[in-house]
Amino acid sequence: MKKHLRLILEILMGLLLAGAVTVAYWSYTGKSHVMGELTEASEGMEEAQQELDKVSKELKEAQEKVAEYEPAAKQMAAMKDAFSNGVVLQDYEAFIKAQKGPIISERQLGLGALRMLTKGAEDPDTVSAFEKALEMAEWTSRLKSICAAQNALAAAGQKVKVLADCALEGSKGHGKAHAVHWDYVGEMGPDKWGSEFPTCGNGTKQSPLNIVGPFEKSKDVLAVSYKEGALKILNNGHTIQVNVEPGSTLKINKDVYNLLQFHFHRPSEEQIDGKPMAMVAHFVHKNAEGKLAVLGVLLNEGKDNDAIKTIWDKAPKAEGPELVVEGAKFNPAVLVPAALTHYSYEGSLTTPPCTEGVNFYILKTTMDIGKKQVADFPFKKNARPVQPLNGRKINAN
Ligand SMILES: [Zn+2]
Repeated sequence: MKKHLRLILEILMGLLLAGAVTVAYWSYTGKSHVMGELTEASEGMEEAQQELDKVSKELKEAQEKVAEYEPAAKQMAAMKDAFSNGVVLQDYEAFIKAQKGPIISERQLGLGALRMLTKGAEDPDTVSAFEKALEMAEWTSRLKSICAAQNALAAAGQKVKVLADCALEGSKGHGKAHAVHWDYVGEMGPDKWGSEFPTCGNGTKQSPLNIVGPFEKSKDVLAVSYKEGALKILNNGHTIQVNVEPGSTLKINKDVYNLLQFHFHRPSEEQIDGKPMAMVAHFVHKNAEGKLAVLGVLLNEGKDNDAIKTIWDKAPKAEGPELVVEGAKFNPAVLVPAALTHYSYEGSLTTPPCTEGVNFYILKTTMDIGKKQVADFPFKKNARPVQPLNGRKINAN
């Protein structure tokens, strides 16, 4: 838009100058020579008019695009909650690296957007990714997509500094997308999630469950192989989450799942015979086909837990981007008991968008957590109520 405006200004300036010269020229040489200049000037005027038409048409289209991106903004907010872990970013960076030929600006823009979701808008990597996208973008042809992406991100509640030039006149006050908020209490509590995230309301295989017999025999054999890595902690406004570097796996029979992240709920979302435990740790895994599996470790109020102390000490008290704890190493295996006997069932994400097709393995052996450690967890209650079984079988071994 800026470039267009500058072009128009240049043309108009040119016309003014041409006009001044014309008058002088006219008085000096008479009519005949001037006709050529005037024709040229009016052609220039037409060109300027066309540019003006084009720019106002583009402005109108861009404004329509903002409304069009409202669902995308909602999805992005949901995606942020569901997948705000570093592994998705790593996947995408690896994907971009593997592409042959130059990286197109849209892809660079996508990288910026993902960095923003995983590292936050203030992170220098996010800013540099967007700056690179801007450098790469042909300002005239890519402006609409850049502005649309920027407005979508702004609507998703992200602070967008880099592309502030895209701010559209007239978009303030109406037709503006809003970020979808959800909570564990109040107006956007669990019983209202379905109004914004349909699966949460009408899904038939939802988590968590009250685990109560009779059970089917579980034939699944689990093998945990978690590795030590950098300690990356995030307070995403709903829980404390630790993002895990690639290399830690859970084998379910012969299927390998990569550990993406683990996080906590207070009290435990799952109940055993109608009773929740003090807390639960959910270890979220994904296999090569993208299928999710959650390993749940119930935390029983008892002795202080050293691993919990390490995490709690560094966990951000307020919502914000991932924090990489300098010099710290952490092995998630210390939070998993040796015995892997379990209850298992088909379920869903326990937070919006409540996507189904997630297999749950809740270990029978609990780990201890100190009373004060439970009290120190920054979320007083972040557990979704138990959901109807709807004819599902719960397995046990
Ligand atoms: Zn969870």
